[in-house]
Amino acid sequence: MPGFEIIDRKERKAVEKIFKEGGILFAHGFHLVRKNYYVRDFEKEFCKKFKCKYSLSVSSGTAAIKIGLKALGVKPGDEVITQGFNFVATVEAILDIGAKPIIANIDQTLNIDSKDVEKLITPKTKVILPVHMLGVAANMDLVNKLAKKHNLKVLEDNCESVGAKFDGKYLGTLGDVGALSFDFGKVITTGEGGMILTNNLKNDKYSREYHDHGHENNPTLPRGKDTKKIYGFNYRMTEMQGAIGIVQLKKLSKIILSNKKRYEALLKEIVQKYKIRQIPLKCKPIYDTLIFFESNNNLRKKIIKTLKKNGFGTKNLPDALEWHCAAYWNHALPPNQIKRVKKTKNLLKTAIAIPIWLKKNVKDYSILGKNLNKLK
Ligand SMILES: *Cc1c(COP(=O)(O)O)cnc(C)c1O
Repeated sequence: MPGFEIIDRKERKAVEKIFKEGGILFAHGFHLVRKNYYVRDFEKEFCKKFKCKYSLSVSSGTAAIKIGLKALGVKPGDEVITQGFNFVATVEAILDIGAKPIIANIDQTLNIDSKDVEKLITPKTKVILPVHMLGVAANMDLVNKLAKKHNLKVLEDNCESVGAKFDGKYLGTLGDVGALSFDFGKVITTGEGGMILTNNLKNDKYSREYHDHGHENNPTLPRGKDTKKIYGFNYRMTEMQGAIGIVQLKKLSKIILSNKKRYEALLKEIVQKYKIRQIPLKCKPIYDTLIFFESNNNLRKKIIKTLKKNGFGTKNLPDALEWHCAAYWNHALPPNQIKRVKKTKNLLKTAIAIPIWLKKNVKDYSILGKNLNKLK
């Protein structure tokens, strides 16, 4: 997830420009004294590239999931079906509005298993929340089909796979609402930040008002006189983040292409010997992580040691599993849901994730592959 690896003069210059123009750091209002709206421009650029009607910048990916769920009408006591392989934020967003997280299995793609989701649907279910983990899409055909059949909404947690596609469309634009993250570890970064994507005006309008204390940001009125109908909260993004986001977004295609070269160099070496994570046929990943499975404990230890020695680390799997997944946070999930994560945990314990770093060369990944092959 290398957005931070390629921060350079361009991001710095974009921030300096704000100060040269008077230093307005707020995304809204001050119409008479400002030259530009960087958060709004960031949103416009996103809509253009991601081919979706509406986008709203917010303060984090976690906020984007929470606001998205509220926009879809999730109320206290409602059930939201998500997966056991997640980041704790996915579950926190559900809990924060008083709804109940229901945990489904994952399949060999390490994303949500729609067959299992169907078994979990009850009259209280409102939303299916697939999480596109580590660069790869969930099978959105299956998710959307199921949602349609049972009259449910779909919120995509696409915090980890910004830029990946399914069926030719960017992830985050295939469900009712998409939630993206630009935190410092993600594929493009604004330090902290997130984005809500939707093609539905009502979802956008609600999100826009809720993230800004209910302000309707009526352009004909000064902010102090602005009309408002609902209460909200403050989940706004700053102009500095917006300006950096515009620069990072321009780098996204190049990041994915550079990832792909490294990923494929490694894949070519190890594909004969190791069992690689499945990728859905219609998915174009962002290639920021290569995951494979190895159930032999001793061999797994050797692999992890080799990775460390060569300066790659293993990033999310298996070492970060415990802090990353809600299943290990006993206060976040009720015991019956933690039990439902067992199958997922067993699969993830055999998985090894190799991060693709832009600062490493394509050749480094070939050599790593050759070294991994020698172990087996
Ligand atoms: C990072 C992440 C989030 C939360 O995003 P923040 O911007 O850090 O709040 C949510 N879900 C997943 C899967 C993530 O990886």
